[in-house]
Amino acid sequence: MDVRIGSTLLRLMVGDITKQDTEAIVNAANSSLMGGGGVDGAIHRAGGPRILEECKKIVAQIGSLPTGRAVMTTGGNLKARFVIHTVGPVWSGGGRGEDELLRNAYYNSLSLAGDKGIRSISFPSISTGAYRFPLERAAAIALTTVRDFVQEHDFFEEIRFVLFREDDYRVYRQAWEKISGED
Ligand code: ADP
Repeated sequence: MDVRIGSTLLRLMVGDITKQDTEAIVNAANSSLMGGGGVDGAIHRAGGPRILEECKKIVAQIGSLPTGRAVMTTGGNLKARFVIHTVGPVWSGGGRGEDELLRNAYYNSLSLAGDKGIRSISFPSISTGAYRFPLERAAAIALTTVRDFVQEHDFFEEIRFVLFREDDYRVYRQAWEKISGED
């Protein structure tokens, strides 16, 4: 599904984020930045060891990455030139600021990309795998954060949500229809 928000194309699709040709892809990392399972493992496998080398340098400089923050490395062997690593919140019932932290993860990734002059970026569904954030709620936060960001900053040509499963894609689509219907 493609929609236009001002001069930005917002695309929701089913796919593998490691195969995307946007300038940057976003990794749903963990605070250690040392790789892991899920999309994190897939990105390090496909991108090769240079990504982990740069992650180690970042951790040596700033320590572990707090939830909601974002940093950037090379894309290594990926089509994407850069990987933006962000840490989404672990879901623990919703009373520990999870919504705001998830919003921060998307916002800070977009903001960092913008600062670096990146014009196209792909996101996975942050926090909805191992971190168990409820999918519908996460989709609404992800999409409203992106929409609000794009309404304030018009430098992105394309923002993609690359959903790994058809069911996730459907939930994101429905969330978008609900959000855009409220305008
Ligand atoms: P988190 O720890 O933030 O929950 P996960 O990697 O466990 O991160 O899951 C986040 C989402 O990424 C899940 O919806 C999962 O299905 C999806 N995912 C896993 N591999 C890929 C991939 N190669 N491309 C896109 N999405 C992926």
